[in-house]
This record gives sequence, C-alpha cells and structure tokens, in this order.
Amino acid sequence: MQSHTLCLLPGDGIGPEITAQAVKVLDAVNTAFGHSLTTRTALIGGAAIDATGVPLPQDTVEICKQCDAVLLGAVGGPQWDTIDRDIRPERGLLGIRKELGLFANVRPAMLFPELAHASFLRPDIVARGIDMLVLRELTGGIYFGEPRGFSTKNGEDMALNTMTYKRSEVERIARIGFETAMKRSKRLCNVDKANVLEVSQLWRETMIHMAADYPEVELTHLYVDNAAMQLVRDPSQFDVIVTGNLFGDILSDEAAMLTGSIGMLPSASLGDVGPFLYEPIHGSAPDIAGQDKANPLATILSLAMMLRHSFAMFDEAQALEAGVRHVLKAGYRTLDIMEEGQTLIGCEEMGDRVAQTLISW
Ligand code: NAD
Repeated sequence: MQSHTLCLLPGDGIGPEITAQAVKVLDAVNTAFGHSLTTRTALIGGAAIDATGVPLPQDTVEICKQCDAVLLGAVGGPQWDTIDRDIRPERGLLGIRKELGLFANVRPAMLFPELAHASFLRPDIVARGIDMLVLRELTGGIYFGEPRGFSTKNGEDMALNTMTYKRSEVERIARIGFETAMKRSKRLCNVDKANVLEVSQLWRETMIHMAADYPEVELTHLYVDNAAMQLVRDPSQFDVIVTGNLFGDILSDEAAMLTGSIGMLPSASLGDVGPFLYEPIHGSAPDIAGQDKANPLATILSLAMMLRHSFAMFDEAQALEAGVRHVLKAGYRTLDIMEEGQTLIGCEEMGDRVAQTLISW
C-alpha cells in the first residue's frame, strides 16, 4: 500500500468538471490496489483572481509544495481577458511552474487505434501508428532570454528578444531525454537549428557529449524545419524528441494535432525534485463549460502519468490506460471524438465508466 497526497488545481471553465472525473478514477485506483491516495484542493487562474485578486495565491504555492504531485485542470476564460496582463489567469500557470522548478515538459502524442478517424493524416500514414513523446525545455531559451523589450532606433520602432542556453540547462533536459528514451525504445531525436544558431550549436554539442553516458540510446539530430515536415510525412518514425522551448512549443502542438483529439492528450512538467505537475494539454474550453460535454480523458491520462512518474505505480498506470482503452473499444465517446455508430456520453459518464473498469480490474 502507498500513501500520497496530490494537490488538485481545478482552475476555470471545464477545469472543475474534468478534475472531478480524475478524482473518481483516483478513488477507484485506491479501491482496486489498496492505496491511500488523497487530495487537497487549491485555487489558481481566474477562480483565484475572483476570490483573492491574484492568479496564484501564496496559499496555493504552499499547498502544492506540501503535496507529492499536482494535477491541474485548465485556466483562463473571456471574463479575465481584459484585466491587467500581469495578473491574468495564465500568470498563475507560469508562476506555479516557476515555484516548483519545473524545467521539462513531457507531451506524449499517442493515437488510440479506436480514434484513428480523428487524425488529419491520410489513413495509410495513420495505419503505421503514432506513439511518440515531445520533451520540451520549459524555462529557458527565447521566451526568457535577456535583453528583451521595445525600443526606437533611428526613429523607427523595434523589438528585441534573445535566445540563450547555458550548458547546464541543456544537460539537465538532455538527461531527462536520455532517461526517457531508455524507458521506451532507446531512440532519441534531438531537434535544433544548429546550421544557423550558435545557441543550437552549443545545444547539439552538449547532447552529443551527454550521449556518452547512454551508449544504448541511438541519438539522431534534425533541424527544426525538417522535423516539422517529417512529423506530418511519417510520425511513426519518431519515439522521443528532445528540443528547446520555442521549437518544442510549436512541435508539441503539431504532434498533438496529428492525433486529432485535443481532449485526449496529457502532459507532465518535471524538475529535479518533486512535486511535479500534470495537466491536460487543452485549455479551459469556455464554449462548453458547465454543459457536461467536456472530454475528461486527457486529465485522466495525466493522472496515469502522475502514477507512473511521481509514484512509480506502473501497474496502476497501465490499468488506468487500459481502462480508457476499454471504454473506447466499447464504443463510448464524448462529443469531441464522436463518430457515427458509437454511443455519445457526457463528461460525468466517461469518468464513471473508466472508474468502473478499474474497480472490476
Ligand atoms: P481550448 O483548448 O480551451 O479550446 C479549443 C477547442 O477545443 C474548443 O472548441 C473547446 O471546446 C475544445 N476542447 C478543449 N478541450 C476539450 C475537452 N477536454 N473536451 C472537449 N472539447 C475540448 O483553447 P482556447 O479556446 O484557445 O482557449 C480557451 C481558454 O483556455 C483561454 O482563456 C486560454 O488562454 C486558455 N488556455 C489555457 C491553457 C491551460 O490552462 N494550460 C492552455 C490553452 C489555453
């Protein structure tokens, strides 16, 4: 038996509905495997702004740090779009990542065979399968580099951003990349722009240097423009991709869209030590909030990532993923993944059905 406490950050829009389904599934994991996984709940995003005036109250940071892992729903919505940029809901998300020292974002892009119809790719390409993972550096690169800002030169407005990486920043994400590859097919593809950017040359050189510690891993390299093409040409060639913040931002969205179903994709943000943060890749979907239409599977699969990465509960994570697969195989679909001949169900029922498969595991 294991005991852990996780912090729930439901957030805004569909956030509370989808995290409620993950809690049901968590209870089912407790019942099926005899664990004691408990939750605490804290405010983030727009919900926190309404209650306290800021998107990340200090209380929330403290509760997260006292817990063993964090599960986030989503933040944001049109009602907070016009407030001061510095206290918008998204600041809560950036803030908690920073507070927890999370520098690596892991996004699996996996196409469930039952949902092959949802992919935008040709059926013959989809038939080769998509089961890959994009590992993105999260706290460095051009999004954070200094100097940055607006200025005027010779009477003309200009703007500046700076892409920087220190060797130590590359080493720590590289290590997660190699370790992740070791747990999968031992293939790691580094994506950079080393033909043009000095920062990418340092990045690539560091990757090659680190490869000596992982002789079993086959390390390959692609320039980012080619990687973007190869992802749509034949995603089945990829297993683990490791890349910097900017390239990872773009490629992880591209990889996600290959599967066609935003409501299915989980993610994890990792650091040197926990607690780590797990969340669906989608946003707060205000257009369907409160209507029992949201797909909770991305959140439930984020919980599976948590069980595996934070608690080393491999059988439990596998059971949960098998439970999702079982419900899809039985033909149950939320609106976003619905197709003819299947049975339309709501967010609540999807949560109930996955939980039920675990209890009868
Ligand atoms: P979104 O991901 O919320 O929605 C895009 C589309 O996908 C919508 O049509 C929505 O209904 C649908 N969708 C998303 N998740 C779904 C689910 N689980 N089940 C069924 N359908 C789903 O992106 P958006 O509309 O660009 O953003 C809405 C809000 O979310 C904005 O305020 C944005 O800033 C915020 N946002 C938050 C995060 C986050 O919290 N990590 C990420 C992206 C966007």
